[in-house]
This record gives sequence, structure tokens and C-alpha cells, in this order.
Amino acid sequence: MREGITPAEALGIVLAETPVLPAERVGAREALGRVLAEPVVAGRRIPPADNSAMDGYALRAADVADARVEAPIELRVAFEVAAGATPLSRVGPGEAARILTGAPVPPGADSVVRQEDVERDGESLWVRVAPPLGENVRTAGEDVEPGDRVLEAGALLGPAHLGFLASLGRSVVAVRQRPRVAVLSGGDELVEPDGDVSTGAIVSSNSYSIAAQCREFGAEPVYLGIARDTPQDVEAHLRAGLRADVLVSSAGVSVGDRDYVRGALEKLGCRLLFWGVQMKPGYPLAFGRLGETGEGGPLVFGLPGNPVSAMMTFDQFVGPALRKLAGSTALFRPLVNARLAEDLEKKPGRLNFVRVRLERQGDEFVAHITGNQSSGVLRSMILAQGILLFPAEASRLEAGTQVRVQVVDSSVFAADTPGF
Ligand code: AMP
Ligand code: MG
Repeated sequence: MREGITPAEALGIVLAETPVLPAERVGAREALGRVLAEPVVAGRRIPPADNSAMDGYALRAADVADARVEAPIELRVAFEVAAGATPLSRVGPGEAARILTGAPVPPGADSVVRQEDVERDGESLWVRVAPPLGENVRTAGEDVEPGDRVLEAGALLGPAHLGFLASLGRSVVAVRQRPRVAVLSGGDELVEPDGDVSTGAIVSSNSYSIAAQCREFGAEPVYLGIARDTPQDVEAHLRAGLRADVLVSSAGVSVGDRDYVRGALEKLGCRLLFWGVQMKPGYPLAFGRLGETGEGGPLVFGLPGNPVSAMMTFDQFVGPALRKLAGSTALFRPLVNARLAEDLEKKPGRLNFVRVRLERQGDEFVAHITGNQSSGVLRSMILAQGILLFPAEASRLEAGTQVRVQVVDSSVFAADTPGF
């Protein structure tokens, strides 16, 4: 096991251990935000037949090639094709067929003139404009031909993908499984939110923030409750999470007298890969792999107990692992450059993840610290729109310096006008 490694090394180890979950078939209505597990090859044409893009008249372009407003050409309206109809009749020379948008273009016809460009009287139709060949006809297969590989494995399914899959006749799709995360908290001082705090107990807020982070990263949390500070209770709670894809425990992984998580994990056969990451907040982070031989079982994260440390280590390490499990290739938050609004100082050695508010000034972002950065102050996270990366070796950043910021709140890109 490695100790006191850099965040980059830690992330490298986590992602190297993280598999991509197997596929499952789900209804396309439930597949929003899931990742396609296999390529999609079209089994049909879209559109299925030549069809009209306008309400108008299907005709032979050659018949009306000389039509002008001053010299309209007369055709005979032979029949009508409604949307959804299967036209059997043929448009012969000198004939036209009334056609509605989306209706199949009848055999014989090669173009559609808009109804605005004709005049009709009973069966007589005067065409005032000569359409180019194929005008207003959406040709069969112009979008998709059978055998076209239309989507690749790894595609993140959005609304357009799902509509497209539906048009290909796919109401069920193969996607990567959604990761299941067992979440547990540990500590004799902890109670649930409705518990008695009159004697100084602390609410297990991590149980809520971490479960919500699981959802934010597309995973399904399973809450295992609070383990008391005894080796037996910690072990029993961890056992309940052995069937999950990921086990996340907060607190109890430091070097305190009552920190039993590490011991219990090792007893359960966890191959601990690292403990301690050179970051602030969040040094006491443990990571390993559970299971009989240490292979194939859930990924195990022992997060620090402090609420901000727990959330930050989740955000930086568990989140990308969840995205990888779910088949996504976009693992990390967007990064922007920003100008620092005020001086920042720290001891050199650890990468600091500083919570900042991002102010837009023209095309530039200005980063403002969100007050008290103590690892117990969740308010710094509530206000955070970004996470400023204060490099490990640096000890001072002056106001005005360009800094790298991970964007956590996409509303920083929200505009106050629609832009049109
Ligand atoms: P520990 O890692 O057990 O030393 O805990 C570090 C700090 O985090 C202590 O102040 C704990 O009370 C706090 N803490 C531990 N677990 C939780 C939790 N589930 N929710 C909120 N605070 C916690
Ligand atoms: Mg504790």
C-alpha cells in the first residue's frame, strides 16, 4: 500500500482499478443519461419512403418546366394523398396529386410545388412556378439507410438519441449498468437528522451529501446507516455493502484510536492500494478493492469524516470512478481559467481545492473565495461554483493571478438574455 501520494497518482490508481460495468437492457424512456453499451446499426430506412416536405401538389417537374407567374401551366388533379396513406395510383403526364406534409410521394411524381405557388379550380391546377427536380421531396433513406452504423458504443444518451432510437424501432436499448454505491457513516458521535443532539451528538450529514453526490454522478446510492465505533459493528456494516459496485464509508479511516475502518477492510480481504493523499481538504483518504482475492469486488473508498473533506474527495476520486463504471468517457468537470480576486496563502506540500464563486466579467471569470475554508464548513461548498486548484508546491497566489478552476455549477455559464 502506498501512503501520502499526490492527487494525480491517487486518481491514476483509482481509474486503473475501475472497470466498466456490464450492459443491461432498459426501456428507451428510462435511458436518458445512460451510456450506450453497443453500436446501433439501422435496420430500416429513415424516412421510409419519399415524402412531401410541404402541403401542395406532387407532379412531374418536366411538365411545368416553363411555368411562370404570367404564364401558368395547367395540370389535372387526379387524386389526393394524405399523411400515412399508401398511394397506389400513379401521377401521369399532365397530372398532379394533392399531397399533405409527410405523405408519401406517389409513383410518377418527382417534385412537390407548394400550394402557395398554384391556383386551383376543381380538377384544374395552374402552376405558376417551375420547381427544380426533387423540390420539397424528402427522399427515402436521406437520413438513414439500413446497415448504417448510426450510434457508437459509449454515446451518452440525450433526448435526440432517444427519439432517433425510437424512429429506428428501438424501444429497448443496451446501456451500461448504473453503478450501485453502498454508503455508510461511522462514529459514536453520529445521529440521524431527527436524532437527539442535546448531548453534543453530530448529525450524520455525510449520509445525505454523499448519497446525493452518487446521484449527481449518475449512480444509485444504498444507505447502510451509521456504524458504531467498534470493530464488530464497522465490519458488520461493511459486509452489508459487499454486493455493491462501490462501497463508500466516511470517517474512521484516520489514525485515531477508534478508527476501525482500515482494520475491518483488511480483515474482509480488502487490498488497500493507498492511504493518505497530498491534498487539502481530504488527506485521510483510503482506497482499495474488496473481494475474496482482492480482485473483482467493489471498489472501496474510505473518505475522511469532515463534511467538506468527504465531499471533496468524493468529487475528485469517487465521481470520476462512477462515470467510468457507467461507461462514460467524459470523466472530469469542465476546467476554466480565472483571475484570482484576492491574495491566497498556504503551506507548500499539498494541492489545495479552494471553493470559489465565479464572477463573469465580459469573457473572463474572476474567482472569489467562499469565506471560511475549514473542512467542517459546508457553507463553503454551498456557495462554491468552482474549485480553484492551488498547486501543491505554491505557497502564495497574488490577486490578479491566472488560476485553473474546475466548474461545479454550470449556471456560471447561464446568460441573462436568451442571446437572440
Ligand atoms: P473522524 O474521521 O472519525 O475523525 O471524523 C472527523 C470529523 O468528521 C469529526 O468531527 C466527525 O464528527 C465528523 N464526521 C464524521 N462522520 C460524519 C458524518 N457522517 N457526517 C458529518 N460529520 C461527520
Ligand atoms: Mg469518528
